[in-house]
Amino acid sequence: MTVGSEIGDPQVVVVGAGPGGAATAYHLATAGIDVVVFDKATFPRDKVCGDGLTPAAVAEILAMGIDPNAEEGWQKNRGLTVIGGGHRIQLPWPESSTLPGYGMARARMDLDHRLLTQAKRAGARVFEGMTVTEPLRGRDGAVVGVRVVPTGERDRDPIDVKARYVVDAGGASARLATAVGLAKNPARPMAVAARAYFTSPRGDEEWMESHLELWDGPRGESNLLPGYGWIFPLGEGTVNVGLGSVSSSARATKLPYRQIFTRWVATLPEEWQLTPVHQRGDLRSAPLPMCHNRTPHYRAGLLLVGDAGGMISPFNGEGIAPAMQAGRLGAQTIVQALGRTSRAGAEAAMSAYPRAIRDANGGYYSLGRLFVRLIENPEIMRICTTYGLPRPTLMRFVHKLLSDGFERRGGDGFDRILQALTAMAPKV
Ligand SMILES: Cc1cc2nc3c(=O)[nH]c(=O)nc-3n(C[C@H](O)[C@H](O)[C@H](O)COP(=O)(O)OP(=O)(O)OC[C@H]3O[C@@H](n4cnc5c(N)ncnc54)[C@H](O)[C@@H]3O)c2cc1C
Repeated sequence: MTVGSEIGDPQVVVVGAGPGGAATAYHLATAGIDVVVFDKATFPRDKVCGDGLTPAAVAEILAMGIDPNAEEGWQKNRGLTVIGGGHRIQLPWPESSTLPGYGMARARMDLDHRLLTQAKRAGARVFEGMTVTEPLRGRDGAVVGVRVVPTGERDRDPIDVKARYVVDAGGASARLATAVGLAKNPARPMAVAARAYFTSPRGDEEWMESHLELWDGPRGESNLLPGYGWIFPLGEGTVNVGLGSVSSSARATKLPYRQIFTRWVATLPEEWQLTPVHQRGDLRSAPLPMCHNRTPHYRAGLLLVGDAGGMISPFNGEGIAPAMQAGRLGAQTIVQALGRTSRAGAEAAMSAYPRAIRDANGGYYSLGRLFVRLIENPEIMRICTTYGLPRPTLMRFVHKLLSDGFERRGGDGFDRILQALTAMAPKV
């Protein structure tokens, strides 16, 4: 049997098997939809990331039928240690009606493989090592499928695969969205971040660490470097160490990362053991498209999920939870559309998807744009951390805001303030 005949005529094609693509495929397959997933890579594969999972990400993992308490490999954490302005405070993850009171960290090499396995178990048909080169367009310009070739074999005859809906979950490159003219909005924030793995005696710590200021020597007596940093323990003696910087527009944040990373890591406490001999692999960087910088999230047969739709949070650089949430919402919308009896009815059903994405995070990300304008200036960041971190009540509020840890309905006083602020903000 040829690969082409094995693929057949799925109802939905998902391009990309990262967290966004795996979640989309899982929820579609669970609803009985015939879904085919293509990824140019063969899993397990690496992805440049901090590997941090907030309670919002844990909730999406649970929604995929995975119980991290019942299997090995999930390094749980209790919250965030925030360091800056000469202060160090611990902020536990708040438990709420919608979010568990713990976060996790797991190397993307394993995480993505586990999520994809779950999608396969649910019935998704996954084809690895297959690169999608372009969308297939109907006479009216609508996307009606994809053209695909085995990765690295560009001179092979391509295979054309037709489907009612195509999901671009191909990450920041967003090849399909770009091909149909959905361009990045240059007025939206963009970050660049870099990370490396280290073998460390503190790999089993129960707190993720966030550094709001980067110094290249003793605090106050040396240079304040642009950006923020993190140390995320992954278990089994490994930590993910990284830094990033964000800009309020798509203006590239051109920093000499390698140099800043080396200078900053050298200032971190010895007990982490972050020395060159303990580094595993290279320092690698990648862009973080934020604040819905590529829209509309649905047009004429093509849905955007995750980084392809610029869904990363401008508050903390988190993109796994929003990608998985979008995959879940996208799948629910497609199920409704496939059940309609006319093309017009199906399009009406599909219009619910961009609305659901905007309702979920549009107001929140709008506030995030203001936040980025403030913190892209390291001096303002220094003043905020110096005066903000010693105030525990303020910090509990800020923690809920930055980690997307607030309830969208009900909840406590902090939740209600954040609900009011995000409702007032225009939805991006
Ligand atoms: C340094 C760094 C640190 C980060 N830290 C965190 C963090 O700690 N926590 C967090 O939540 N987020 C973090 N993020 C963001 C997070 O990595 C992304 O938001 C997340 O990976 C988005 O998932 P996705 O499924 O949309 O895309 P991806 O994970 O990028 O997956 C896209 C998939 O599509 C495949 N693909 C691409 N093009 C094609 C094609 N043409 N044909 C077939 N397959 C294709 C790729 O092989 C890939 O498997 C970080 C990002 C960076 C750069």
